[in-house]
Amino acid sequence: MLYKRSSELFVEANKVIPGGVNSPVRAFKGVGGTPIFVKEAKGAYLYDEDGNRLIDYINSWGPMILGHAYEPVVNAVVEKAKKGTSFGMPTELETQIAQLAVSMVPNIDKIRFVNSGTEACMSAIRLARGFTKRDKIIKFSGCYHGHSDSFLIAAGSGLSTFGVPNSPGVTEGTAKDTLLAAYNDIDNVKALFEANKGQIAAVIIEPVAGNMGCIPPVKGFLGALRQLCTENETLLIFDEVMTGFRLAKGGAQELYGIQADIVCFGKVIGGGLPVGAFAAREEIMNYLAPIGPVYQAGTLSGNPLAMAAGLEMLKALNADNEIFTRLDEKTAYLEKGIHRVLTEANVVFTKNRVGSMISVHFDANPVYDFATAKNGDNDTFKKFFHGLLKRGVYIAPSAYETWFITDALTYEDLDFTIQAVGETAKEL
Ligand code: PLP
Repeated sequence: MLYKRSSELFVEANKVIPGGVNSPVRAFKGVGGTPIFVKEAKGAYLYDEDGNRLIDYINSWGPMILGHAYEPVVNAVVEKAKKGTSFGMPTELETQIAQLAVSMVPNIDKIRFVNSGTEACMSAIRLARGFTKRDKIIKFSGCYHGHSDSFLIAAGSGLSTFGVPNSPGVTEGTAKDTLLAAYNDIDNVKALFEANKGQIAAVIIEPVAGNMGCIPPVKGFLGALRQLCTENETLLIFDEVMTGFRLAKGGAQELYGIQADIVCFGKVIGGGLPVGAFAAREEIMNYLAPIGPVYQAGTLSGNPLAMAAGLEMLKALNADNEIFTRLDEKTAYLEKGIHRVLTEANVVFTKNRVGSMISVHFDANPVYDFATAKNGDNDTFKKFFHGLLKRGVYIAPSAYETWFITDALTYEDLDFTIQAVGETAKEL
């Protein structure tokens, strides 16, 4: 495949945009080469500026669960746009999507919409601190909760791709209130609670981690975490920005039968437009301005185009009782195929999967936390990435990312992908 025009566009972009991109992992620094400039996309495919067609396994990093340019979403956005793109005033649409989200997700009474997953997690933490009147939070190494200061500490994919554990610019004062635990290690969390008695406002976790590859919670881990939080009057925050409306209608809460105190959303809930949200039971959500003391706001929050897209997306997922089973089956098929061809080629690997999230790690040992995720052989990953790319299969340009499977993928696409993996495996 040729990437002549993409290369030219990248040169131009670099002159006016830092690193040529508006979000770092897009720059291909982790894998080398030139980022691909996309022209358009439909269903399971991306079409780039050089006329190449790529099967997409990133899907805008998660949102496009029904494929690109999903018509009900596109039509809703177009129709709304004709009637005004932003008002900064309440609309009925906001209540409609809120009602639907609250009906789909267990254990939430009220939801507030923001513009990104970052904002959702940042606001959830502020709310938890205000509600509990405590300062400290526990986060897990390798979990990413957006780029707000409190979270940029051992934050998984983006930072790891660039080899920086923490970002300069985050003050020591902020960092000291973020306590780090190892994912899947409940004793580690217990020790932090012991050492910081009565000081921990919240534990925030990706209930299935997706930013150090896909890492499932080990059996009993989320339940034990729930219990520890309850015992310590600490709020449990599930960051379901990736898993929400992807693993089940009610996300990971539903899948694992564990109730969080606050749930954060992003990605799928916006149908591909910039949307995040956080939700909780009434007692907690009523702590927010304008009825409560914790301030949180946004000029474009609840934007009509974004709400129209999100509403159509949620409606489609809510109406289709087979969707999550179908996604699971497609991903299981892909997993089996990848396992077969990599094994045939004697490649050393481990794979993880939950529903439609899957990752391949080039290490023989199980990957269950950030330390084990970092054991993966990055040089092999780079060859793997480029081998797939030249065969028309686009996975995330970082060894620490999950593949997101979309319902637009056909079994033919999956077979094509498995064949591409098999051919690539012989070159590793
Ligand atoms: N939380 C999780 C689990 C994420 O994966 C991400 C982004 O990838 C975020 C939060 C931040 O969301 P956004 O990029 O929309 O700010």
